[in-house]
Amino acid sequence: MIDNSTKNGSQMVDPFGRTITYLRLSVTDRCDFRCVYCMSENMTFLPKKDLLSLEELIRLSSVFVSKGVRKIRISGGEPLVRKGIMTFFEGMAPLCHEGDLKELTLTTNGSLLSEYSQGLYDCGVRRINVSLDTIDPDTFHAITRWGKYDRVMAGIDSALKVGLKLKINCVALKGVNDHQINDLIQWCGDKGMDLTLIESMPMGDIGELRPEQYMPLSVVREQLDKQWTLRHSDYLTGGPSRYVEVAETGQRLGFITPLTNNFCAGCNRVRVTCTGKLYMCLGQDDETDLRTPLRASEGNQLLSYAIDEAITRKPKSHDFEITKDGAPAVARHMNVTGG
Ligand code: SAM
Ligand code: SF4
Repeated sequence: MIDNSTKNGSQMVDPFGRTITYLRLSVTDRCDFRCVYCMSENMTFLPKKDLLSLEELIRLSSVFVSKGVRKIRISGGEPLVRKGIMTFFEGMAPLCHEGDLKELTLTTNGSLLSEYSQGLYDCGVRRINVSLDTIDPDTFHAITRWGKYDRVMAGIDSALKVGLKLKINCVALKGVNDHQINDLIQWCGDKGMDLTLIESMPMGDIGELRPEQYMPLSVVREQLDKQWTLRHSDYLTGGPSRYVEVAETGQRLGFITPLTNNFCAGCNRVRVTCTGKLYMCLGQDDETDLRTPLRASEGNQLLSYAIDEAITRKPKSHDFEITKDGAPAVARHMNVTGG
């Protein structure tokens, strides 16, 4: 249920006039994969006792909706490994069905979709992003380390079967999967899925040198132009992706280029971690603790004030840069804020 004590509170508008309508909520930092660009193989996770409960995550979401958020993307870590995750989605369903929340979606590695696709659809989820960097099984294992290729493929098919609309996300990695992107484009086309290519971002110590992985999408685009007819598309989601249409497949192809092309001017989003830290920018360290005001009273006024105060500190842009020594631009890993 929407909390009416804050429903008439003003919209969240940051100092640069950007209205915040999009929340990315991480429900866990844990994951069943160990993607090379995201985390090291011996990653340390947060103690479970620090996590917000599923009920707290639902309450927090409803407060953001009361303050003008219209789209919530659930992420992680791998969101579907969080224990009881369907209880969370069931708790979110009224927000969707009452119409205040226009879109409830998630980003997943796909490994558990065979189990959860139908349940997600029933709770009001209509579109999801699946992260898949290659359709070559060997490269898939090299990138994800622990990923189960067949399960992901079965998960994708199950999601399509229940009627979910899928978009595939692929992080381009130099010398690893960049030469396989044509195959991915064709495969997505055959299945009726859009595809977004992403530049790897310098977040967290991953035990490997980032500059070796970093593949500028400007270079990828030049290669793709030789193979495909890429037509300009005006399609915009309010997010950082810029799209073209692949004439041969009829599907959209997006490019997220935080390093070669800063996307911050139209940023409408904030991120909350599974411990209740509100990050105003993916590429900056400033954050606000929402867990304390959330637990301090049963009403939502304190929480609402804390959010309003944080929005006044939303920075103009991120500070990403691939340094020569490979040092991360921000110390936290991508699985903390969920991308
Ligand atoms: N586990 C889920 C998944 O992989 O879809 C959700 C969380 S994951 C952190 C969200 C997205 O961030 C994925 O598409 C992943 O490929 C991307 N990602 C992770 N680390 C990244 C990095 N350093 N640079 C760019 N994208 C990254
Ligand atoms: Fe897990 Fe997603 Fe990070 Fe891969 S990108 S390790 S699937 S959180």
